[in-house]
Amino acid sequence: MVVGVSGGIATYKVCELVRALKKRGAAVVTVMTPAATQFVGPLTFEALSGNPVLTDLWGHQRLAWDLPEEARRRMGGRVAHVDVAEAADCLVIAPATADLMSRLVRGETGDALTAVALATPAPQVVCPSMDAQMWKHAATRANVATLRARGARIVEPESGELASGLEGKGRLAGTETILAEVSAALERRVSLRGVDVLVTAGSTEEPLDPVRVLTNRSSGKMGYALAAAARDRGANVTLVSGPARVEPPQGVTLVAVTSAMQMESAVRTHAARARVVVMAAAVADYRPARAAEGKIRSGERALTLDLVPNPDILAGLGRSRRRGQFIVGFALETAPGLTAARRKLLQKGCDLIVLNNVRERGAELGGDTNKVTLVAAKGVERLPVLSKREVAERILDRVGTMLAARHGATPRPARIRPRRAARISRT
Ligand code: C5P
Repeated sequence: MVVGVSGGIATYKVCELVRALKKRGAAVVTVMTPAATQFVGPLTFEALSGNPVLTDLWGHQRLAWDLPEEARRRMGGRVAHVDVAEAADCLVIAPATADLMSRLVRGETGDALTAVALATPAPQVVCPSMDAQMWKHAATRANVATLRARGARIVEPESGELASGLEGKGRLAGTETILAEVSAALERRVSLRGVDVLVTAGSTEEPLDPVRVLTNRSSGKMGYALAAAARDRGANVTLVSGPARVEPPQGVTLVAVTSAMQMESAVRTHAARARVVVMAAAVADYRPARAAEGKIRSGERALTLDLVPNPDILAGLGRSRRRGQFIVGFALETAPGLTAARRKLLQKGCDLIVLNNVRERGAELGGDTNKVTLVAAKGVERLPVLSKREVAERILDRVGTMLAARHGATPRPARIRPRRAARISRT
């Protein structure tokens, strides 16, 4: 467990957090920003954690880490902050000041904490604490949303009296609240290591003429979050994407398409080897019967468009599914839609339908959150409003569990036992 401490008036409260983690049997390494050391001396955290404290990027090359075998295997043994990043099972950052979050968002690595945060593959729990106005500021709101979208768990600050003497939201969450979130972050995500996963995302554009298209308001965020989450679980991800309003994730094979017909052809090619297919794209149901060769001229008379149905890619996949393939479809509705989702599950031959009603708060098209219901033949699971990344994680957890059940495997234990205390000594 790595506890990252930045410099704010709440820094002293993190001493209690480190103590509580130790009491629960966790091996704790503390990493402090230079500002944090202005509030609490590193010696305090060294005594509480029983380990040396990383306060900068220099002079730690000769630290010898004595950690459990599993953690040691992940370490290169050369660069302290990289070793700490690799060995971490969770990085909890408390307090996370406005300045620190801004630097995390920009991917800076100027001090030990930001360097560890950028280098670690471990889940991150970020516990902001700051002045109430800073918390409300658009810049902080945007930074929090970005960290959430990248998969961090944010433990929101609490309301009350602040160091400034003013009242407002900004106090570091209580130790018990943070511990509960750390525990949830340590829940083992079902691995998809080596699994071929095909994700479709974005909208499609159906040409009317050389300059005009019929399209929809899909942003691509949900599909991209799914692709990134599957990648982070070790899957080989192919992302067939129509036009989207966000940057595609790195580390996936991107197949860019524009029309539904192109998407169908790309999906047919890539689905052949996919074990899991997630159809998150908002495919146009109809396309103009013919795209005009030249630009359609403006005129006085009403224009009637002749539309023909596009192939239902998902239903086609369901019909020609390869053995053992797991298919997830989306059902975007403007009404509750549970009956429609159940019907789609059967008609389209899916294993799972992700239902969302875009009229519900938190599920609006193009937003950073979603509120979905997972509909399978056996069982309906309603999820609260979550970041799209977290929705993606829940969908993949469900996919992994259903796949494991299909093969008679016992799903992995839900929680990691705390590791035996690590001894880290200087040589
Ligand atoms: O029938 P409906 O459009 O609600 O179905 C939505 C699901 O079907 C989504 O998973 C979407 O990607 C997929 N779909 C498709 N081909 C179409 C229309 C929808 O694959 N032509």
